[in-house]
Amino acid sequence: MTATPSAPSGAERPDKHAPASLRALTQAVHAGNRIDEGTRAVRTPLVMANSYALPDDPSSISWSSPEHTLYTRNGGFNQKALEEKLALLEGAEAAVSLASGVAALHAVFFTFLRSGDHVIVTDQSYEATWRLFTELLPEKYGIQATFVDTSDLDAVRQAVRPNTRLIHTETIANPTTRVADIGALATIAHEAGALLSVDSTFTPPPLARPLAGGADLVVHSLTKYINGHGDAMGGAVLGRGELVARVRADAMVDVGGVISPFNAWLIVRGSVTLPLRLRQHVASAQRVAEFLDADPRVAFVAYPGLPSHPQYELAKRVLPNGGGAMLAFAVDGDSGTQNRFVSNLRVITSAVSLGHDETLIVHVGTDGPRVSAYPEPFKRYGHLRLSVGLEDPEDLIADISAALDATFTA
Ligand SMILES: *Cc1c(COP(=O)(O)O)cnc(C)c1O
Repeated sequence: MTATPSAPSGAERPDKHAPASLRALTQAVHAGNRIDEGTRAVRTPLVMANSYALPDDPSSISWSSPEHTLYTRNGGFNQKALEEKLALLEGAEAAVSLASGVAALHAVFFTFLRSGDHVIVTDQSYEATWRLFTELLPEKYGIQATFVDTSDLDAVRQAVRPNTRLIHTETIANPTTRVADIGALATIAHEAGALLSVDSTFTPPPLARPLAGGADLVVHSLTKYINGHGDAMGGAVLGRGELVARVRADAMVDVGGVISPFNAWLIVRGSVTLPLRLRQHVASAQRVAEFLDADPRVAFVAYPGLPSHPQYELAKRVLPNGGGAMLAFAVDGDSGTQNRFVSNLRVITSAVSLGHDETLIVHVGTDGPRVSAYPEPFKRYGHLRLSVGLEDPEDLIADISAALDATFTA
């Protein structure tokens, strides 16, 4: 399996480093890394060049082709190393990396939809997905979108129209943690002659394998778990070679949302520990979720690893390696109480983003049109989105416990 048919010449990675048969921990260490021909360095060097030397006779080269490494916007050295690694980790034929997760989402929509097309979109999603399909794509490009509860398969079937070209969902929804049955959605999409694209940011490999479940395209925000250290942005689209090639040509080369070589290099390095980190993220999230669930001062907890999650059985089946490390909850009280609780935390940081080494929390209120699609307790209390990090879970629980005490005795 070659993720990067146009790897720079002289830089072929010996196959022994990462054949597809190796397990996740091994892949994460070796994939995308090679001994550098020029220096004999054992780590892939960072190449910040904008352009690459042309062949002796460049007259037949297409300047906007991604087939030749000639300009970093067509594909740079570190970008290709990252794409090769991501494809192996995800079990995809090919990957294209972009400047951010949102650039990757937009790349899918831009490449595969044209005016007059119809899309079925999950009604619980990342903010930018919702904005793209409520405002930008319909208003500017005449794309029709129906927002549907993608856990209600009958509702999805009923939303299909003759011009439905794409179904888009998230493996675990941001922020509600609703779980998608990718296999069932893929069947509906394919019967309708549509593609299924899946934002798998909450479930990086090896937690979920949407492509094996029938999805056509997987999108990741590399900014989150895959880089994992909160210091680089990136996004990726993965799938069959022919689909990824279209994204690369249309959305990367000609629209230009290219990832910087430095960020690609950082993300390759960060992802070395991805499966190792995920083990701890998931184990700690389970401990924290159980602690919150048992505390009477907590109004609700949404986490797929809790038996109280409405899709607990589905989550066990489709996410056998764990239900991720994102949870949503609220303390029992109004919005002022949620804010007081957050301001009483000492270890956990109040900031957006997720999947970093440090635990992050963000308070989201009950206002805004998106909230109407959220489950009842989200509408009533608002929610605290918690990204459980890599600190000792006992320290996280102690921090939460002390903040609850300070909030409810004040
Ligand atoms: C953060 C996030 C994105 C967007 O990623 P950026 O790298 O911030 O552009 C997309 N989808 C989900 C589910 C996310 O959490």
